[in-house]
Amino acid sequence: EAQKKSNVSFTVDADGIATVVFDQQGSKVNTLSMDMSDEVQRVMQQLESDPKVRACVITSGKPDCFVAGADINMFTRCKTQEDLINISKPAQDMFLKFAQYVILNFTLTSSEILFKLTWHVSPRVLGDARRGKPKVAAIHGTCMGGGLELALACDYRIATDHPKTVMSLPEVMLGILPGAGGTQRLPALVGLQAALPMMLTGQRIKAKKAKKMKLVDQTADPFALESAAKQAAKGLADGKLKPNREVKGLQKLIRYFVEDVEYTRNLVFKKAREQVMKQTKGVYPAPLKIIDVLETSAKHGFGSPEGYRAEHMGFAELGLTPESRNLVTIYFAQTASKKNPFGKPSVADKKVGVLGAGLMGAGIAEVTVNNAKKDAVMKDAKSEGLARGLSQIYGNLDKKARRKSISTFERDSIMSRVTGVSDADSNWQQHFKDVDMIIEAVFENVDLKHKVIREYEAVTPDHCVFATNTSAIPISKLAEASKRPDKFVGMHYFSPVDKMPLLEIIRHPGTSDDTVARVYDMGLKQGKTPIIVKDVPGFYVNRCLGPFMDEGMALLLDGAKIKDLDSALTKFGFPVGPMTLIDEVGLDVANNVAKFLATDLGARVGTADPTMLDQVLAKGWYGRKSGKGMHIFPAGKGKKTVNPEMEAMIEEVIKQRGKPSSGLLSEEDLQLRMVSRFCNETALCLQDDIITDPTAGDIGAVFGIGFAPFRGGPFRFMDAYGVSKLVDRMQRYQDVFGAQFEPCQLLKDMAKDNRKFHN
Ligand code: NAD
Repeated sequence: EAQKKSNVSFTVDADGIATVVFDQQGSKVNTLSMDMSDEVQRVMQQLESDPKVRACVITSGKPDCFVAGADINMFTRCKTQEDLINISKPAQDMFLKFAQYVILNFTLTSSEILFKLTWHVSPRVLGDARRGKPKVAAIHGTCMGGGLELALACDYRIATDHPKTVMSLPEVMLGILPGAGGTQRLPALVGLQAALPMMLTGQRIKAKKAKKMKLVDQTADPFALESAAKQAAKGLADGKLKPNREVKGLQKLIRYFVEDVEYTRNLVFKKAREQVMKQTKGVYPAPLKIIDVLETSAKHGFGSPEGYRAEHMGFAELGLTPESRNLVTIYFAQTASKKNPFGKPSVADKKVGVLGAGLMGAGIAEVTVNNAKKDAVMKDAKSEGLARGLSQIYGNLDKKARRKSISTFERDSIMSRVTGVSDADSNWQQHFKDVDMIIEAVFENVDLKHKVIREYEAVTPDHCVFATNTSAIPISKLAEASKRPDKFVGMHYFSPVDKMPLLEIIRHPGTSDDTVARVYDMGLKQGKTPIIVKDVPGFYVNRCLGPFMDEGMALLLDGAKIKDLDSALTKFGFPVGPMTLIDEVGLDVANNVAKFLATDLGARVGTADPTMLDQVLAKGWYGRKSGKGMHIFPAGKGKKTVNPEMEAMIEEVIKQRGKPSSGLLSEEDLQLRMVSRFCNETALCLQDDIITDPTAGDIGAVFGIGFAPFRGGPFRFMDAYGVSKLVDRMQRYQDVFGAQFEPCQLLKDMAKDNRKFHN
């Protein structure tokens, strides 16, 4: 019978330096669960009481992961605030003991006793106790959440200067806050001003920057990490190494005003609150609570009992909010999508051919070489097009290098993985002889795409997959030109490709499962979250966006103001309002999409006066790219403002139509008129098997257009709002406005039976 290996093991060297290795059995990464915490405490107790041990190095046995964070399941199981406090408080106490270990005068019989004891030991008592043996965190790979809190509880931190090494407190993204002492130790270590953005945005910090802000004391090459850590542990034990965390000069003065002077400190918190309100419209409780906790803690001192109390109470309050629960479901769904539902691909695809070096092609090549670490050959018909595409990639990488998130060496080595070719290169075919996968992003034109498919299938090997990034041409139509239809598929990316996380994978009837497995795998490696969508006009995301935008136009003609629409929908939780979105997409593009969707969706799009957009386009108002659209975009850095000529023109159209306003223009109406049409279309997609399940629909909407993540996506929104309530509302709108508001059959059935999409 195999014996269960321990998650936490250690060795002690001749110098009395213990190396503690975290290696969670049966898991790819280390997470801090209750079990793991028990073991950590047991091991630390043992080391602390062993006279041969002088200091400890804490390290990980996992490749590229120190500790990824706390086990999220631990807190999703919680039903009450009490349950949540019972997670946060023992974790706080564990790290307090860890940081300032007291040798307890009893033999430990079970972990329960220890927990019970720690429960009653107040931080002050521990703080006053004798300091324990020095501990050094040797960090390589992800060090997030609870992992960073663990590192913070150590006396010294060394991180590898490696792209995989990132430190962050990402709790805010799950709608909670760091509950194991992070809100106390981080500001105490790096200062409030640096700690605030880290906690409010979940910002990921690389080793170099971490060193600069004194989050880590030292950086090391991965191969030298262990010896450097042992050296440091020895130095600390001997009293020869004194960590230099002194802040000097201007920095010191700033820190003094930000943290110690009440008046200026209050200003800092006021500013932080304003900033959060501006960015989130107050719909996310976590960042505001984080500010509250930091403010209380700063007042009483970081690490004070009041600070710790504020932290675990804040953690407990946030953990039960629907916002947090929804963010967690999105996180779980995203994690689940990382498992390829089509299994292991038959081929390990190494080289990707990208056709077209435009906005999309260059973006696709960038994520291929940068995220997926594959080779790419990017081909454009024109050498100017190629040059533009290459400089788009270089520009993005260089921006990362200037922000120090990659080194200039990395920038250049990533860049060297892209080979650019154009028609001007006489031997361009050579570069495609060993290509495993082609992703095509040439102009949106059937004949051109057909020609390109034939041309490149002829020069690539038989196992090569051909994927198209078309937005509007049916995949089955394009597959007609393919001589390997089983290897033909749609990969629909979103712009800008390096930032937008969604990938829609569209198969036509002949696409093989293995081909889908291969492109799914490539998408994951490129850092995308893939969903599988049926071959219908608009696929999933754009199809649902159609009725939503149509309602935006209808609302304008019903008398709604551009500014009010943007404000109502950002308050609902969209990252940008619909009028800003249409300016970004381009009014010409939006108009084409609407017209194209109308051929399939009929009354569900194109209900607003179609001549209005034509008139707008005739004036050359295309949105941001032309400097004018719903808004005016001043050259340079000036802020956009609503375009008064547009408003005047809309008023003119309203007058000519002579139709009185419905008056259904309250903020709630603006939100529900637009959102209900979006949601109805998502439900139709589910009804018609265009998407596989509600979770895919939620993921698509959240990652494709930023549909209110804290609401968990359209299906979770409908569940929370109530399907029958939504159906009632839509039917009331239907009476006033017409068939575009008719709820689909699935919604009506669900309303009747009082069903939910998710359980
Ligand atoms: P783009 O106009 O920026 O780029 C197209 C590029 O293809 C140009 O550089 C052009 O020179 C090149 N090209 C034309 N014919 C070629 C050929 N025979 N061989 C090699 N290169 C050729 O266009 P884009 O916005 O990047 O869109 C490309 C495709 O992606 C289109 O099918 C579009 O519908 C789709 N798409 C666009 C978006 C978006 O937001 N822009 C989103 C998803 C999908």
